[in-house]
Amino acid sequence: MKIAIIGAGAAGCFAAANIAAQPGDEVIVFEKAAKALQKVKVSGGGRCNVTHACFDIPELLSRYPRGKQLLRKTLYQFGPRDTINWFEQRGLKLKAEADGRMFPITDDSQSIIDTIWNEMMKQGVQLRYHKAVEKIDKEAGGFTINFADKSSYRADKVLIATGGFPKAEQYKWIQELGHRIQEPVPSLFTFNIPKHPVTALMGLSVANAAVKITGTKIAEQGPLLITHWGMSGPVILRCSAWAARELHARNYDFQVQVNWLGDVKEEELRMQIHDLRRETGKQKVVHKNPFELPKRLWEYLTTECGISDEMRWGDMPAAQQNKLITHMLRDVYEVKGKTTFKEEFVTCGGVSINEVNAQTMESRVVPGLYFAGEILEVDGITGGYNFQHAWSSGWVASRAIIS
Ligand SMILES: Cc1cc2nc3c(=O)[nH]c(=O)nc-3n(C[C@H](O)[C@H](O)[C@H](O)COP(=O)(O)OP(=O)(O)OC[C@H]3O[C@@H](n4cnc5c(N)ncnc54)[C@H](O)[C@@H]3O)c2cc1C
Repeated sequence: MKIAIIGAGAAGCFAAANIAAQPGDEVIVFEKAAKALQKVKVSGGGRCNVTHACFDIPELLSRYPRGKQLLRKTLYQFGPRDTINWFEQRGLKLKAEADGRMFPITDDSQSIIDTIWNEMMKQGVQLRYHKAVEKIDKEAGGFTINFADKSSYRADKVLIATGGFPKAEQYKWIQELGHRIQEPVPSLFTFNIPKHPVTALMGLSVANAAVKITGTKIAEQGPLLITHWGMSGPVILRCSAWAARELHARNYDFQVQVNWLGDVKEEELRMQIHDLRRETGKQKVVHKNPFELPKRLWEYLTTECGISDEMRWGDMPAAQQNKLITHMLRDVYEVKGKTTFKEEFVTCGGVSINEVNAQTMESRVVPGLYFAGEILEVDGITGGYNFQHAWSSGWVASRAIIS
């Protein structure tokens, strides 16, 4: 049997590493670039956030804005626990950070690459670089894969693991096989807030901010980072994932509301301020920062509320107190545009999961054709979930291809 895998990324290589081919079988990975596993290399800031320490599958499913219907089947077959075991059985331990993200113990993505690579070599997998697939023809009993360099390859089974494409027309050769494509739009991006004074606080992070996208139900909580172009950090990336389609439809022109104190409610804050005015009324507002906010953020918020350096807690007029409460709990920012530069990003959309058998990853339209990874309309929030989908779908496909 000749098995062709298109794309030497996370899903394609993981599938190749797990196909226990029989003597005489040929497993070849065709890759358009000059190297394999390039995204793994740069992922997680060079450390590769390989999965997430979440072992309850229903809970894990809640971390994927799209694709639950498929993941419900694949994650039960190969979940985070299996990922940990797979690498550990091959000599690479993974460790969990306090927030649940898992990395190789080496803190180096190269060790993930080496482990997968060694397994592929052990299985006798072959790789061909500079092989960009342009068209696949389904023929009786197999496929002919046509490359940009005008060469072709005849395979019995084909696994498409090319990752996500930003433009709908890049999926044309898959559509020609009879598959429907859900419109691709970006997910996991940061928010641009051009020329806003808050950007002067670049580099500052708040451990637990709550962010809402105005006019939607999307609300997330977690670390927020202020950048020189706007806002980033896990809470922003998560909002971008849940609202990927909506924000695309709004041309990335929208409003966010930030609660700098996380889940603190107005009544609770009013009580706190009331006590503070009574107990520390003689202290200056700017100097007495009672909410454990970063100093520069506190100074920014008080300046925005017109609180002078000299004003004391006890002398603050009610109007200014109200303004301060509003700025702390419902600080509004106009977002104009997004950025994916140097950040983790994924494609929302892709091959419709209704046409793929989630037990096998085989196409319901074209027998013998399989899909794995980001090419499917499956994507997770930031935290190792996207690689987990690549491993799960790659593994499930690898089992089914040889069955
Ligand atoms: C900078 C960055 C950091 C990231 N960090 C993380 C992280 O830490 N944790 C996490 O969970 N996720 C992370 N992600 C997301 C994660 O990398 C992807 O979800 C994952 O790589 C998808 O795997 P894949 O195999 O489906 O696609 P890819 O890894 O993109 O691989 C697809 C491969 O197919 C090849 N290819 C494409 N078209 C063709 C063609 N026509 N012919 C032949 N070959 C083709 C490509 O060149 C590529 O090598 C990150 C993404 C980025 C961009």
